[in-house]
Amino acid sequence: MVAKPLRLVLISTPLGFVGSGRGGGVELTLISIVKGLLEIGHEVVLVAPEGSALPPDCQKAEIITVNGKEQAGWQHQNFYAPMTIPLDGILPKLLEKALEIAESSDAILNLCYDWLPLWITPYVKPKIFHLISMGAVSKLMQSTINHLAKSHHSRLGFHTNRQASDFHLTGEPIVLGNGFDLKKYNFRLVKDGPLGWAGRIAPEKGLEDAVKVAASLGDTLLVWGIVDDEKYAAKIDASVPSGTIQWRGFLNTHNFQEELGTCRAFINTPKWNEAYGNVVMEAMACGVPVVAYDRGGPGELVKQGVTGWLVPPDDINQLKEAVSKVADIERTNCRDWAIDSASYEAFGKRIHFWITNGIKA
Ligand code: UDP
Repeated sequence: MVAKPLRLVLISTPLGFVGSGRGGGVELTLISIVKGLLEIGHEVVLVAPEGSALPPDCQKAEIITVNGKEQAGWQHQNFYAPMTIPLDGILPKLLEKALEIAESSDAILNLCYDWLPLWITPYVKPKIFHLISMGAVSKLMQSTINHLAKSHHSRLGFHTNRQASDFHLTGEPIVLGNGFDLKKYNFRLVKDGPLGWAGRIAPEKGLEDAVKVAASLGDTLLVWGIVDDEKYAAKIDASVPSGTIQWRGFLNTHNFQEELGTCRAFINTPKWNEAYGNVVMEAMACGVPVVAYDRGGPGELVKQGVTGWLVPPDDINQLKEAVSKVADIERTNCRDWAIDSASYEAFGKRIHFWITNGIKA
């Protein structure tokens, strides 16, 4: 417990509601932050789109929902796309509500990867902190973050160094990693299960490469995740013999980890500078070795030859070769690494230090 608890206002992603899966890894990250901050003794108010819910172990947090039209995700727009806000858009409403509550709070922690909260930061009294959830997927977002970093470096947090390297920061990046409730992930000692892949089914996640590896090994690939792009999913499905992919759908964390833990290897194939890669750490939490492209966050999360194998990005032959070497990896190494580096308790403390130091800056 901290000596001086803070009252913190968290802003959720403007994509979907918490629990929908539309917000990708941000949803789970948000829950870990809420839980971590509550356990330290802070007071948390979450401002989120209508329909959002927190799990029972976060019930001490207050949740305020607002209604409005969903924002378009930057990752699926042209790199040079301008900022657009739909009529009756949710983004200004989230911000408006958070600023109103912040009058009686110590700080705002924003999880929207969006222009408006970043831009407004220097002009408002409440101290707004931003946990940036993606790399530079838009020129406007990149230059907005670069610009804010010049005057408010201490307000910007990142998940990994690789992610932060997409931005021109004025000092060392504040790298916070991520955190998971590891007691909710069961460790499994299996050596001969199927291959697994998880993530939003969208081009930046590179599912097609994992599918090619499974097909060439005559293996089954279990695939979990929300379909962000129907056409892309159908094209991949048609590209391999039937039965290669087992579409498992989008499961809640309990069911997801139950199935994930049965895999002998987890394949991760990002085509973008992945900010962290929650699914990589979740696989390791279940004891599943990860074979990943050495790109973005997964390149920092997988320890070569210890918790899995990293291969040069987009090299499908090396990916296939690495999959055939997963039996060399001790599954206990994976679980141990998740416990050492990615518990929600430690993540909550890192967020706490970042914000308490940043408030003083
Ligand atoms: N996920 C889930 N159920 C599933 C598949 C995935 O809850 O069946 C979650 C997973 O726990 C992770 C998120 O989807 O938190 C994907 O996050 P990641 O950081 O891997 O990628 P992002 O979508 O943020 O780019």
